[in-house]
Amino acid sequence: MIVNDEKPNLFGLNEDELSDVLERNGQPRFRGRQLSRWIYLQRETDFQVMSNLPTGLRDRLSANFIVDRIAPEQVVNSADGTKKMLFRVEDGAFESVILFDIPRRTLCISSQIGCALGCKFCATGTMGYTRNLSVSEIVGQVLAANDLIDPGDGITNIVFMGMGEALLNFENIVTAVRIICSSVGPMISQRKMTISTVGLAPRIRQLAESGLKVNLAISLITADEEIRRELMPIDRKYSLAEIRDAALAFTAKRGRRVTFEIILMKDINDSIAHARKLVSFIHGIPCKINLIRFHPHDGSPFEKPDEEKVLAFRDYLYPRAPAVTIRKSFGEDIAAACGQLATKTT
Ligand code: SF4
Repeated sequence: MIVNDEKPNLFGLNEDELSDVLERNGQPRFRGRQLSRWIYLQRETDFQVMSNLPTGLRDRLSANFIVDRIAPEQVVNSADGTKKMLFRVEDGAFESVILFDIPRRTLCISSQIGCALGCKFCATGTMGYTRNLSVSEIVGQVLAANDLIDPGDGITNIVFMGMGEALLNFENIVTAVRIICSSVGPMISQRKMTISTVGLAPRIRQLAESGLKVNLAISLITADEEIRRELMPIDRKYSLAEIRDAALAFTAKRGRRVTFEIILMKDINDSIAHARKLVSFIHGIPCKINLIRFHPHDGSPFEKPDEEKVLAFRDYLYPRAPAVTIRKSFGEDIAAACGQLATKTT
């Protein structure tokens, strides 16, 4: 990314903020909407190309501002079509993954560089934490993905399941979601966006009250508190009971079900006893359960579950749980599958 210290970067500002900038420069506010269209919908970075802005304004903007957005340093292609983008910034790197699950084209977005929460089964958790991503870096991942895939075939769905705990970057995620769904932005409906969390109960309630219409996925992993606490240090702060209450509050406020994500690991949480605990945990919560096979990564002591155990787990859950799916694995050969992101380049 080119950084020009002297000129403020307009990328990452929402329509209102762009209108404020233009108003301060003697322009009517509606120019903010035009500028937003150019930046986020047309993905244009050169003010001189913005043909519906007066020439004098284009010159003034070029002299005083820049539109600078992230571009991937590396793109790795999987045999199944999945693409992993690596973005390098001054103080680290992060990744996002494009999954082609036709007709959906889903982008898995990172929200932090590294992660402080240290879940034992997650490659990102081994990186340590550097910082939250900015609004510009979050929205930039979407535009970079749209640059990569064919025009007219842009990203249709977004999941905040890349590196980091999205709800620990709450304000930036909310602002970024509003830009991404805007009619003068990439125009991806909030209903096609899912925010994932390991279960930060107060932030789940805050999300319910935020006015956003996004979906919520909770990485529950297991409803056995002792094992969850071993796997996920955050469980010492927010217990299963607190997560359950927060999930109920979310569904009551939003009128939509939540998804519980269960990464199945061999002989850790893949037994019928775990499935039974899960059924009693979700009792009364409008929800869907998404089963994900653990994807091995370097240094991890955990293994992929046996296929018959995955199917038996699902068959126990359904119909005791209202909806159960087994997630298809994408990009495992390029370390782009769930839980494998750790900014390793090839
Ligand atoms: S699963 Fe999410 S919260 Fe846990 S270490 Fe990985 S990125 Fe962080």
